Amino acid sequence: MLWDTHMHSHFSTDSQADIHEMIQASKEARLDGICFTDHLDLDYAPFSDDFLLDIPAYLNEMQAVQREFSNEFPICIGIEIGLQPHLEKTLPEIIKANPFDFVIGSSHLVHRQDPYYPEYYIGKTEDEAYREYFESILENLAVFNCFDIYGHIDYIVRYGPNKNQLYTYEKFSDILDEILRTLIEKGKGIEINTAGFKYGLGHPNPTEAVLKRYRELGGEIITIGADAHKPQHVAYEFFRVPEILKTAGFKYYTVFHQRKPVFHKLD
Ligand SMILES: [Zn+2]
Ligand SMILES: [Zn+2]
Repeated sequence: MLWDTHMHSHFSTDSQADIHEMIQASKEARLDGICFTDHLDLDYAPFSDDFLLDIPAYLNEMQAVQREFSNEFPICIGIEIGLQPHLEKTLPEIIKANPFDFVIGSSHLVHRQDPYYPEYYIGKTEDEAYREYFESILENLAVFNCFDIYGHIDYIVRYGPNKNQLYTYEKFSDILDEILRTLIEKGKGIEINTAGFKYGLGHPNPTEAVLKRYRELGGEIITIGADAHKPQHVAYEFFRVPEILKTAGFKYYTVFHQRKPVFHKLD
């Protein structure tokens, strides 16, 4: 059985999910445990209000549900931080000051633009737009260490003009390899984010080929998350996950507790 260690609640600006409903859905999905990872995106320029997180209130409420379910269902408390190079001082301070189990570092913006919106693609080919996204990941990796895994590495293919129709690992293997090698050198992991199936891509983010390449290059830390923002998306398409990971060469997946990886056998 699996843990879903990437999910959101009403503490995220883009979710209204009730925490107890998320837990109920997780139990119904027969998960072994979960980790909430609500959004903190500082300086989220395209919106009038930032994707901010009231961290004291978040920790308070999550610790209360942890106690409530302590005998029946394991719940970890994580965070998904939006990385941008100019936040290199602010984000580590926030992470250091709070007792998170797990920190996902994600790219939601590219050079202060949001690839969710069509404006980002104006004046560039789709390949250039995707490459710029991957370059911005490298720029983040050059300055950040305060995370455990990099979130949904090829997330941008959810939103490009042709989505993932023309996207392959091979086309971007030079820069994807550089990202994966850098993560491995830093002792950081990646995730299999099954929201790609929800977006109709037919693949997780990143794709099977990228997961396999991470393992080939020596990477061992792989977490599993559906990135649910609603109860019905908890553990989305998780029945596919063990086979995908085993085919990619993994024997274990990872759950973080107090920022330490714990390895669970895939069976
Ligand atoms: Zn994200
Ligand atoms: Zn997320």
